[in-house]
Amino acid sequence: MKVVVVGAGIVGLSSALRIVEDCGTAGLKMTVMADKFSPNTTSDVAAGIWCPPRRKMTEREMQWLKWSQEYLTSLLKTPYAPEIGVFLQSGWIVWMHADFQDPDWKDLVQGYRHPTKWELTHLFPEYKDGFFCTTFMLESRLFLPWVTNRLKDRGVKFVERKVQSLDELSLDYDVIINCSGVGAHDLVGDTKVFPSRGQVMRVKAPWVKHWMLLEGKHSYIPGIPYIVGGSNSTLIGGIRQDGRWDLHNDPRDTEMIWKGVTAAFPALKDAEVLEEKTGLRPMRESIRLESEKKTDPLSGRSVQVIHNYGHGANGITWSLGCAKEVALMVKQLLQEKSTKSRL
Ligand SMILES: Cc1cc2nc3c(=O)[nH]c(=O)nc-3n(C[C@H](O)[C@H](O)[C@H](O)COP(=O)(O)OP(=O)(O)OC[C@H]3O[C@@H](n4cnc5c(N)ncnc54)[C@H](O)[C@@H]3O)c2cc1C
Repeated sequence: MKVVVVGAGIVGLSSALRIVEDCGTAGLKMTVMADKFSPNTTSDVAAGIWCPPRRKMTEREMQWLKWSQEYLTSLLKTPYAPEIGVFLQSGWIVWMHADFQDPDWKDLVQGYRHPTKWELTHLFPEYKDGFFCTTFMLESRLFLPWVTNRLKDRGVKFVERKVQSLDELSLDYDVIINCSGVGAHDLVGDTKVFPSRGQVMRVKAPWVKHWMLLEGKHSYIPGIPYIVGGSNSTLIGGIRQDGRWDLHNDPRDTEMIWKGVTAAFPALKDAEVLEEKTGLRPMRESIRLESEKKTDPLSGRSVQVIHNYGHGANGITWSLGCAKEVALMVKQLLQEKSTKSRL
């Protein structure tokens, strides 16, 4: 069975990884096709905190989150966890209002609690509530190259190409996994998908050992000041601009990030700036993870498309869980194919 994964961000590469691991490579020829690879995807821009959105979760979404946690736990226990960019970090999200609702997934992270009186008084004096917990970090800029090498070792082909329409692939492949992120807007004409532009800076501040996200601190900044410790740099942000498609680092946004972050965390005032990056969060009202059969109008040939995109501001968190569902779908297709060929 010939399978092509369109997209080489965290969603595409996690899907490819879990297919290879869960289905094996016997009877499977896999290609990853994308117009951009690490370090040039949105996934490379992300901080990598495992933190789902704070809204009501469906049963299916809770299952994805559990699968993602299970996989990260297994990676954390390997000797190469630092090479993959997997580690644990604690931190706070604080809120200006006292109406903070505990999220459905609070028991999936470790030590979830509200901020103490001392923390609110001394660390976040303008904030009313929020939470503290210990959670996974998955740094895509380390994870993506690691997965790429692992997949190449298992015989997966990598092709750099912009796909204009999935129909282009329907003669050459049996299964197309569409992990095109915000690119799905044009690739499959999904108008529910839109970008939320994010810009971040990486600075040298090795003393930062926690993540701190201050929600709604500066209403004039379209984003939240935040800092996140990484394995070899600290990420500061951030910008959230819905509907903006351009990918250049905007000096006005740089100034807003710097002002917001150094006002909240003056210790960063003299930190050396190592890098700036911009990415487009693939926003959608809900993740599209579903299978669709397409028939080529000329040849009459059928191809199975599995869509896996629209992971919004939390794609690092969802990726490995959604990837497991994709792998289960591919496994089922392989079984059906082998049953048919035996008949
Ligand atoms: C500033 C910032 C901070 C973030 N922090 C976090 C965080 O801490 N935790 C978290 O969980 N999430 C975070 N996110 C969100 C996360 O980065 C995204 O949800 C995630 O990267 C989406 O992954 P993806 O693989 O779907 O998309 P991408 O990484 O954008 O990859 C899409 C892939 O599809 C390819 N593609 C698209 N269209 C085509 C086409 N027509 N032909 C060929 N290839 C195509 C692209 O080239 C690319 O390879 C953050 C995002 C930003 C911007």
